[in-house]
Amino acid sequence: MSNTIHLDMDGVVADWRANAIRVIGYDCFDPKQRYSAADWDLLRSDPHIFLNLPLMPRANELVDLARGYRDRLGWGLVFLTAIPHNNDVPWTFHDKFTWAQGHYPDIAVHFGPYSEDKHLHVKQPGDILVDDRLDNCESWTAAGGLAVRVGRSLDSAILALELDYAKRVSTALDLRDLVLNVL
Ligand SMILES: [Mg+2]
Repeated sequence: MSNTIHLDMDGVVADWRANAIRVIGYDCFDPKQRYSAADWDLLRSDPHIFLNLPLMPRANELVDLARGYRDRLGWGLVFLTAIPHNNDVPWTFHDKFTWAQGHYPDIAVHFGPYSEDKHLHVKQPGDILVDDRLDNCESWTAAGGLAVRVGRSLDSAILALELDYAKRVSTALDLRDLVLNVL
């Protein structure tokens, strides 16, 4: 069974943060920080909040890199996203799927369903998660996976993934060369 690379959506390919700042003036990049009840109510007063999020800058580069794991290395590739803690945005499942299909129709959407459930999706040691939440990355790593944490931009995550991908491609080439030489 091959490995799978999982891309989080909010804060990774969908710019949740930009929208939160626009609506309530701040975001919760630090998982220890929580939206106030009033601010969350304001955010979810748009029932299609997840449908209309803009793309993160460089999201297409990140996705193309992840497609390399799938298309060149034979990995699985999915989005792994979560629903709000109280499941209080009824359009979440539908709109996240629709958003993903609109931008990246070749990639399926899996749901935690909750953020704290994401680590249950580690099926093989070394499965990769790209996520902006530190707690998600820590629980993913504790479950045997590899986590690439996204900061306020995708820059460092793309660099880390590029290095990992280059190493894996070069190993795959070495093995192929070896097989050819034996033959
Ligand atoms: Mg996220």
